[in-house]
Amino acid sequence: MSGLQIKNVRMHFSGVRALDDISFNVNEGEIFSLIGPNGSGKTTLLNATSGIYPLNTGAIKFEGRSIEKSSPHEIARAGIARTFQIARIFPRMTALENMLAPGFAVRDPNTEDRTTLIRRAKEHLEFLDIDGFAHEQAADLSGGQRMLLQFARALMLKPRLMLLDEPFGGIHPLLVERILQRINDLRSRGIDFIVVSHDLPTIMVLATRIIVLANGRLIADGTPNEVREDPGVIEAYLGV
Ligand code: ADP
Ligand code: MG
Repeated sequence: MSGLQIKNVRMHFSGVRALDDISFNVNEGEIFSLIGPNGSGKTTLLNATSGIYPLNTGAIKFEGRSIEKSSPHEIARAGIARTFQIARIFPRMTALENMLAPGFAVRDPNTEDRTTLIRRAKEHLEFLDIDGFAHEQAADLSGGQRMLLQFARALMLKPRLMLLDEPFGGIHPLLVERILQRINDLRSRGIDFIVVSHDLPTIMVLATRIIVLANGRLIADGTPNEVREDPGVIEAYLGV
């Protein structure tokens, strides 16, 4: 069984229902997007899927295996990589050193030595057009470049599913364009995506399928055109 299955997932934080009985499947071949107003539960859903918080109830399966009790590290090894809304990088390391940390974490020592990892890291930096910064300290990169570095780092895990949290937030339009192209490139190479964003126009051109959350509930699921015309979605967005 391929893809990701989320079933009856609930998560609350001291009385706040951050996720209220969420179920959906992400099939292979999708650029799946999760949208919704601020505080609707998007990041919480990515945190649940990547093992950062334990679920209150529910089940999550990836490629047929239950992962809801797995640690973030095990989930990364299972093939799910993610980026964060605020880039999580090591500011005092160079861009290249930032790449090697996740590379070492998941490598098979029989097939990947340090040289192989460095080569792969450079290829990913080049793919995202930030190889010119390989030896710069991550702290010196712009917000957009840090987002690209996080993206490149996630590729070190050789993921089959990537979870991107607000990858377009506060980023120059030219970099947004580059990220969109790279997501499409990677999709054509077999990587699936869940892209979380409140940037509706960008999501409308990128996603093949969209799920809308509001107050922790799933209020719509469909193609960009279906979601665009959904009265509940319009209300959720205008109501905040
Ligand atoms: P979004 O990413 O859609 O903006 P979040 O998933 O970050 O929303 O948050 C959903 C709700 O859960 C919000 O009410 C938020 O305050 C709450 N929440 C998220 N994470 C925590 C946490 N670690 N502790 C307490 N409340 C949290
Ligand atoms: Mg968020």
